[in-house]
Amino acid sequence: MVDNRSKYFVFVPFCLLAQAYQAQGLVKYEWKSSIKPFVELIIENDINMIQMPCAESSFHNQLIREPMGLKKYDIEEFNIHCEKLAENVANQIKEIIKSNYKIVAILGIEQSPSCSVNYIYTNHGNVNRKGIFMEKLYSKIKKYDVPIIGINRKYIHKSFKQLEAEIHKIGEKNKR
Ligand code: SF4
Repeated sequence: MVDNRSKYFVFVPFCLLAQAYQAQGLVKYEWKSSIKPFVELIIENDINMIQMPCAESSFHNQLIREPMGLKKYDIEEFNIHCEKLAENVANQIKEIIKSNYKIVAILGIEQSPSCSVNYIYTNHGNVNRKGIFMEKLYSKIKKYDVPIIGINRKYIHKSFKQLEAEIHKIGEKNKR
């Protein structure tokens, strides 16, 4: 039986596909819905795209919300919420790896108190750390050595190139 599936995956933040889930005032760039260059790159390369949950909108149970800093999110209730979400995503990742499929990358959003990979802007300037959700996810899957790439939405070039490089490693012949 012919089965034409791609065995490659990229995990993306919820708002990469639906920026309407961002807090108010953050969607300022040319793409109104999904962050197109990444979505197109993933689709063009026949890679399965998994949308991770949005920690913040699901915590508040509403899309429309003001942006809040790390200090306001770093509370017990939000940590428990992120722990549960991260556990579910980590289980998905483990299942994919157990099936001998490959995770090309996990994408995050820099500056997000939940989904950043490298840095978050705080009252004391930029702090080098992961967001709360991303930190918990990373702690559960770090032994698998999956690349985690942070998107700086103002300057997407660098993270775009990083994802391109990871996709390039797959090699044309292995995409299916
Ligand atoms: S919590 Fe994560 S997925 Fe939700 S809007 Fe913020 S960066 Fe996007």
